[in-house]
Amino acid sequence: MITNPPPWPNGARCAVAITFDMDADSLIHLDHKADGINRISGLSMLRYGPEISIPRILDTYRRLGIKQTFFIPAWCIENYPRAIDAILEAGHEIGHHGYIHENPRAAGRDEEEYWLYRGIDVIKKATGKKPRGWRAPLYNFSYFSADLLIKAGFRYDASLMGDDVPYILQTNEGEIVELPSHWGMDDWPQYVHAMDLDYLMPISSASRGMDVFREEFEAMWEHRGLWIAVWHPFATGRLARWRQAERLFQHMLEKGGVWFARLEDIAAHIQSCRSSGEYTARVDTLPYYDKPELPTKSPEI
Ligand SMILES: [Zn+2]
Repeated sequence: MITNPPPWPNGARCAVAITFDMDADSLIHLDHKADGINRISGLSMLRYGPEISIPRILDTYRRLGIKQTFFIPAWCIENYPRAIDAILEAGHEIGHHGYIHENPRAAGRDEEEYWLYRGIDVIKKATGKKPRGWRAPLYNFSYFSADLLIKAGFRYDASLMGDDVPYILQTNEGEIVELPSHWGMDDWPQYVHAMDLDYLMPISSASRGMDVFREEFEAMWEHRGLWIAVWHPFATGRLARWRQAERLFQHMLEKGGVWFARLEDIAAHIQSCRSSGEYTARVDTLPYYDKPELPTKSPEI
């Protein structure tokens, strides 16, 4: 059902990346500029991510012996040094996720570029190297994003939803690996209900939410695809949900043939398979359109 599954390392059936977007309370400061500091309950809900969930998640990863990727707005890197140090000390990857979760689609090219480079500087300072990957805040990948990422030397993007396996984004500036996921792999629709975020969904039970992700895994395992969870520490890092997540990881380990990897490793693997001629990735050329595609009325109407 997947026409060109990549050759995963050691004959693995699929690649699994549990990516966490550690947005913390950047969301409230951004959405409620006038009174964000007065929303203590909402702030506490989001601060649960770096304060309580991150140590819990890292402990699980340590026990499983896996390295994973965290996308973190630069403002959060500056404000939550303890969580950042723990993530880095354990050998996980930190990817770029905006400065304060701003919306690149609302920015225009110059402003998008400004925040991109400001975030790169913060990540360089914290980790000692440039970020390899980017995920657009709230999937807000703009008309200009691919060009800006390629120009800035990123190796991969993880914001788009155009395939079941890694593919290549090509623009006039060059190319970059895309590591796709989709809303079905995001934990917000399952677990987030928050007035302060203007996001109200009926909350799934921990097991029902995890069933959605498990079914995605079974399909990717069977057809040799790429499973990327887009989770958030304040949501999936809550106790009952993380307990179910651990059960899912255990199931993956027992099933076998799963390559748990950081996104930077998956992007590097795809590029090495392309260089050796072992794999031909699908190429998607951006932008899709140069002007709005609006049909005009026929003159006689
Ligand atoms: Zn985010």
